[in-house]
Amino acid sequence: MNYVIDAPEVPSLPVRGSGQLFPIHRIYCVGRNYAEHAREMGHDPDREPPFFFQKNPDTIVPDGGEFPYPDKSSNVHFEMELVVALSKGGKDIAEADALDHVYGYALGLDMTRRDLQGEAKKMGRPWEIGKAFEHAAPCGDVIPVSRIGHPASGRIWLNVNGQLRQEGDINQLIWNIPETISCLSGLFTLAPGDLIYTGTPAGVGPIDRGDVMNGGVDGMGEITIRVT
Ligand code: MN
Repeated sequence: MNYVIDAPEVPSLPVRGSGQLFPIHRIYCVGRNYAEHAREMGHDPDREPPFFFQKNPDTIVPDGGEFPYPDKSSNVHFEMELVVALSKGGKDIAEADALDHVYGYALGLDMTRRDLQGEAKKMGRPWEIGKAFEHAAPCGDVIPVSRIGHPASGRIWLNVNGQLRQEGDINQLIWNIPETISCLSGLFTLAPGDLIYTGTPAGVGPIDRGDVMNGGVDGMGEITIRVT
């Protein structure tokens, strides 16, 4: 290729147990997808249509990596989430076909500059500065469907420094995975390599430099990220 500058690297995640990599196209996130979390953020968890935002693919941090405390914030929150990794894309994907588009699943942290997100909400501004900053998307290995199937229930949890901070069950998702893929594909053309962070259970809170975040979903192992 005859690029005028060096082409950026394709961000990727290890595929568990294979030595291969999953290349990342886009990162989509679902907002308020567990009722208890919607309530703790001051919202009515009625089943309104899901809403979405994006993170930048080059903000991925792998399992075991470091999350440098970001600039311009004094209230950075963890959000432990189940992540869906797509092998196929498309538009207007039917719920009944949605799971055929999934390559695998991963454990993610939707790191959030809550103070900047709060100001943006108040002023009707976009959320990028609160959600899409450097290192904002820690994510563990992608576990192929061929190894774990399609998890629909199981405890999701996050410890900080060994203390339980978030707990729920992925069967509490207000919009389940087929519904989420179907709805998102009506708004964006999905593609192989897309990741979808499916939302966080209740208990979100702040972290500090030196903290160790460690979370998981039953049957999927754990992710550990150190705040530096
Ligand atoms: Mn989130």
